[in-house]
Amino acid sequence: VIRRIAIVGSGLAGLTAALLLREHDHSVTVFEKSRGPGGRMAAKRVPGGSADIGAQYFTVRNPAFSEFLRRHAGEGSFGSWSGRFGYQNTEGQWKPFPREERYVGIPRMTAITRGLSGALDIQAQTRIERLVRQDPEWTLLDTDGKSYGPFDAVIVTAPPAQARDLFSNSGLQSLADELEGPVGHVQPCWAVAAHFSQPLGQPYEAMRCQDPVLNWIANNSSKPGREGASGEWWVLHADSEWSRENENTPAKQVEERMIEAFQRVTGISVEPDERVSHRWLYAKSSATDQPGFRWFNDLRVGLAGDWLSGGRVEGAFNSASSLVEHMLAG
Ligand code: FAD
Repeated sequence: VIRRIAIVGSGLAGLTAALLLREHDHSVTVFEKSRGPGGRMAAKRVPGGSADIGAQYFTVRNPAFSEFLRRHAGEGSFGSWSGRFGYQNTEGQWKPFPREERYVGIPRMTAITRGLSGALDIQAQTRIERLVRQDPEWTLLDTDGKSYGPFDAVIVTAPPAQARDLFSNSGLQSLADELEGPVGHVQPCWAVAAHFSQPLGQPYEAMRCQDPVLNWIANNSSKPGREGASGEWWVLHADSEWSRENENTPAKQVEERMIEAFQRVTGISVEPDERVSHRWLYAKSSATDQPGFRWFNDLRVGLAGDWLSGGRVEGAFNSASSLVEHMLAG
């Protein structure tokens, strides 16, 4: 019987799996290498508030996702963002994107994952380095050599490169090998948040750009619950190819070049008075053929995450919830 479950990673996939398993009376422990939960649904503290430097917004097409958020994330922790979205066509002209319901955390993206994690047992600042099998149980070892367990099953929700390392360190080479190839390929992304003391008067609050440096820019201050700060905070995401080429470029230089591109794309010449940056080594999956989740029944090891199901916030939920459904049915 599977009763005690270890979950590696407290992004949306890890938190989803934890909450759904707990509802079925499993005992669940979540391990997270960072200080807090959320993973790529991230926000950085900035003067006057915070800026969403990872996921920008998300869709809720699956009714089960909507129901899950309402039940677990907490009243008022998310809501819709009515910002106008535009894109640049190949001639460089701006066109509006069709309206659709788009959601954000309120007052920051992490409000959702904070709400979801409230009632869970989360071991933060604990990077799991090795899974040790004492058949049929698992013990987990962190980077300080501390051990946790025993557990009946392990769910790994780390991005594929990190999951691969974990499996290799654990002598689970055949699992590590499964993560080779396109499904294991996740692109990097440089993110910059820049503050302008005056509103920029742009026609769109979010823009998908045709630019060698920038892929996306959005007025973070236009999202609900961010109104407190004066001026506007904009979030800039670099093109994935450019991010790869500049993986080791110093942050200061990256910020300069992304702000230069921002000025080129928007046609403004104002300089920001504050800026912060973040380098995502694993941002977005580029695979198209994704199995949803993986479950290795003989080992009682599962894999879930956005990269197995569409590469977005809602995909992370879909992946984790279908893994749990599969585990409960088995
Ligand atoms: P993650 O959030 O990555 O969670 C994995 C967790 O595992 C992390 O917290 C990590 O610290 C932890 N971890 C890894 N290894 C270990 C270990 N060994 N031990 C312990 N913990 C470990 N999606 C959208 O829907 N809309 C968007 O607009 C959008 N924009 C994005 C922009 C950027 C720049 C980025 C980076 C992502 C964006 N995404 C967007 C994608 C979205 O953020 C992800 O799809 C989703 O958050 C992934 O959730 P997850 O739980 O699968 O993975």
